Amino acid sequence: MTVHLYGRVCSMQPITEVAKRYNLKVIEDVAQAQGALYRGVRAGHLGDAAGFSFYPGKNIGALGDAGCITTDDAALADYVRAMSNYGSKEKYLNEMKGLNSRMDEIQAAVLCLKLKRLDADNEARRQVALAYGKGISNPLITLPQVPSTAEENVWHVYPIRTPERDHLREYLSRVGIETMVHYPVPPHRQQAYSEWSNLSFPISERIHREELSLPISPVMTEQEVQRVIEALNAYNIEASPDAL
Ligand SMILES: *Cc1c(COP(=O)(O)O)cnc(C)c1O
Repeated sequence: MTVHLYGRVCSMQPITEVAKRYNLKVIEDVAQAQGALYRGVRAGHLGDAAGFSFYPGKNIGALGDAGCITTDDAALADYVRAMSNYGSKEKYLNEMKGLNSRMDEIQAAVLCLKLKRLDADNEARRQVALAYGKGISNPLITLPQVPSTAEENVWHVYPIRTPERDHLREYLSRVGIETMVHYPVPPHRQQAYSEWSNLSFPISERIHREELSLPISPVMTEQEVQRVIEALNAYNIEASPDAL
């Protein structure tokens, strides 16, 4: 399963090669990368099947929870459709034990409208990411890599790294800039995976300790973006918000 984390599409070619060699299926998690392109092909069309989330905060969000699955495999599509409808293809006949996970039609209507804006919204996110990349010059801050093909990233998240993450987060919060941490606890340290808790993944642990997500959205104004850049460039370890 490939997770196109933060909106950046995974390097699919080597993954697909390994999958072919071992006769594996590739499932994409496109929850953060709706609209991204890899070598001209949309995320969600790069493996055998893909899962999308339309949780309100995603690049296309519904007005409540929603999601979908894409696949080119007609038999799988039939199976998934039936599974989401009590395991039934024909009313009141249940071929298998299914679920009720149909998307309601109000959500579908909203998503159909928003889909038309997706590429423009993603382009607006790219402009914010570009401005951050050009403008942020604080040596305490490590910026994310920008792919050579801009369409490979739809910037669901703009993740920076900094050694004193919680300090920077508090500083930004005091000057009115909200940030998030994606994600505070690595999978092998989650209680749900306690069977892994004695394993050590130092790179992963470091990323989880240092990551901070800056504001990014298609509706941010240039002034708002500049304010974030100025606040970050004015930041140092002794920084107090009065410095601004
Ligand atoms: C949001 C998200 C999910 C879960 O989506 P739901 O709609 O809550 O099921 C899965 N994977 C990633 C990477 C996400 O960002």
